Amino acid sequence: MLKGKTALVTGSTSGIGLGIAQALAAEGADIVLNGFGEPDEIEAIRAGLERDHGVKAVFVHADLANPDEAFALVRKAETELAPVDILVNNAGIQHTDRIEDFPPQTWDAIIAINLSAAFHTTRAVLPGMQARDWGRIINIASAHGLVASPFKAAYIAAKHGLVGLTKVTALENAKQHITANAICPGWVRTPLVERQIEARAEKEGMSVEEAARRLLGERQPTERFVTPEQLGALAVFLCSEAADVTTGAAFPMDGAFTTH
Ligand code: NAD
Repeated sequence: MLKGKTALVTGSTSGIGLGIAQALAAEGADIVLNGFGEPDEIEAIRAGLERDHGVKAVFVHADLANPDEAFALVRKAETELAPVDILVNNAGIQHTDRIEDFPPQTWDAIIAINLSAAFHTTRAVLPGMQARDWGRIINIASAHGLVASPFKAAYIAAKHGLVGLTKVTALENAKQHITANAICPGWVRTPLVERQIEARAEKEGMSVEEAARRLLGERQPTERFVTPEQLGALAVFLCSEAADVTTGAAFPMDGAFTTH
């Protein structure tokens, strides 16, 4: 379905971004990987995409905390592979603290990576998408782009902002075949969440599995983690022609997290 298209997925060396990159590659899209990690592990992911799906895959380094690197990521992707038809803004970090204890530098880093980087990659891809009259922009927000919890001020501000950026991107490009949507996952058991589970297990003196159960039990009524594969399937739908007028929306995939 996506043969001949090129997808740039930020933060695709791990977790949700990797799941989305694999799902898009399975549909035939060529992939630009980005994110941190050990060079040999990243190379194994890149080579695995090419081997398993018969697509082209390249890795482009960029630290998305830096606006110039975020913008340059798109240019490098285009030089090393092809113009970007599908942009998935996925890279993100987390930090929990009360507002009065929240380190200001950490606030700045979370806003830069989880929100501003998406602005910089989006402004870099749009002229090409407009010239070709086709594009798909998918912003990985969060259930926390729609509702709040304590101790996550920067993350929740960034994710609400990302939902807003998604709507504006959709409006400004509505007349063309360019869509912008946000996906709002509930709890997904990736390294980002594993760190929160382990911190809770230690703080509350319980096993990691018990801490995981409690985390789910509080907010995610299905009591099952969302998986990167399920999120990949939603991303594939948003890239399809069937989703050509699906734009400006924020899709929860959250086990009913945002219903209560
Ligand atoms: P993860 O930690 O497994 O993956 C994060 C990815 O972002 C990694 O590839 C990492 O290398 C990359 N990254 C981090 N900082 C970067 C930087 N400065 N520059 C470039 N790349 C950087 O986490 P995940 O859970 O897969 O999270 C992916 C996205 O999904 C994030 O935006 C997160 O907020 C969002 N999300 C996660 C959950 C969840 O429960 N895991 C829920 C809702 C939303």
